Amino acid sequence: MHVYTHRPQISAAVANIKKKGLKIGFVPTMGALHRGHASLFDFAQKNCDVVVVSIFVNPTQFNNPQDLETYPRDLQADLAFLEGINPEILVFAPGTTTIYGANVKSLDFDFAGLDSVMEGAFRPGHFEGVATVLKYLFEIVQPDLAFFGEKDYQQLQIIKRLVELEKLPVEIIGCPISRHEDGLAESSRNQRLSKQHREAAPFIYKTLMQAKALFNDKSTSEVEAFVENEFKDHALFNLEYFEIANASSLAHASEKKENEHYRAFIAAFADDVRLIDNIALN
Ligand code: AMP
Repeated sequence: MHVYTHRPQISAAVANIKKKGLKIGFVPTMGALHRGHASLFDFAQKNCDVVVVSIFVNPTQFNNPQDLETYPRDLQADLAFLEGINPEILVFAPGTTTIYGANVKSLDFDFAGLDSVMEGAFRPGHFEGVATVLKYLFEIVQPDLAFFGEKDYQQLQIIKRLVELEKLPVEIIGCPISRHEDGLAESSRNQRLSKQHREAAPFIYKTLMQAKALFNDKSTSEVEAFVENEFKDHALFNLEYFEIANASSLAHASEKKENEHYRAFIAAFADDVRLIDNIALN
């Protein structure tokens, strides 16, 4: 398995791949790899000649220092996981200085409101951090295609906008959410759940499914009230937000319009572990 930690080495490898005319598929991650990530590697493998996976816990996208500190990190376990999937995968696991130099700061972007709702509203600066690291990573890895999960649906929309804004020569591919058998969306944060919270966590997806079932016949505010009520008395989960939004503009859907697609988005705390999920409603 080829693991690169510094720019000159990965740049030489990328130049060599480009010289051969091979197509690079890129999957950026923050490590603590799981089957959700593996589903993206699979899409990349099927659509590209060479797969590059980055493992980098990006400090600028954490609005909460404690979340950054407790984010699970185990590079050896991640490399073993990747080796088991395909030893041909190229891994880029840089340190913070390799990406940011001495200036660990986000750049400014105009995401035309996509970043002012939901995750953007509750995690100030989060998407600037995400966009900044991706701009740098795209410059280094020079992918033809880059694969992102719909698990972070708002992030996916923002990355598409970033690529337009910066005219980056990469195609962004969205991939479906991978779930545990009980419905809980796979996430690196799940390993921090207590046994009790883990057992109860399918409640989040179950509530999203109920919202979807209600969506046809009820108004969006009725569906939102239903979900808020489900969480109100729950002993284990605290709802941060539940929102029904237009699937492309992410604008809050106060009414349903014909020929528009809608999605429901949720963020909830299990103790101090913040979980997010979302579902297509129509
Ligand atoms: P992360 O390591 O959490 O930054 O995630 C890296 C990529 O994996 C992002 O594009 C995520 O959206 C994607 N991802 C994380 N969890 C899942 C999942 N359960 N299903 C599909 N994609 C996922």
